[in-house]
Amino acid sequence: MADASRPRERSDPAAESADNNTRDADEVEHHPCPRCGVEAGSPCRARSGAVAGSYHTGRFTKVPRLTKHLRVLTPTDRGPGRP
Ligand SMILES: [Zn+2]
Repeated sequence: MADASRPRERSDPAAESADNNTRDADEVEHHPCPRCGVEAGSPCRARSGAVAGSYHTGRFTKVPRLTKHLRVLTPTDRGPGRP
């Protein structure tokens, strides 16, 4: 209990989770999506053709590390890929 003088660790939960999300998304995008049919390297698409807000389950479960996730959000900086 003597570490009150310890320098604060760089901790920004929001930025950190955005970082992890980007890394997760990169791994998901190594695989094409069996659900909406996009190629590797593109974000998932909704039925309307717009970029989906999250990757389809059948896609991110191809990444063993992510199978326990309920959803993997598409980073907001992802543009629409090729259908
Ligand atoms: Zn998809």
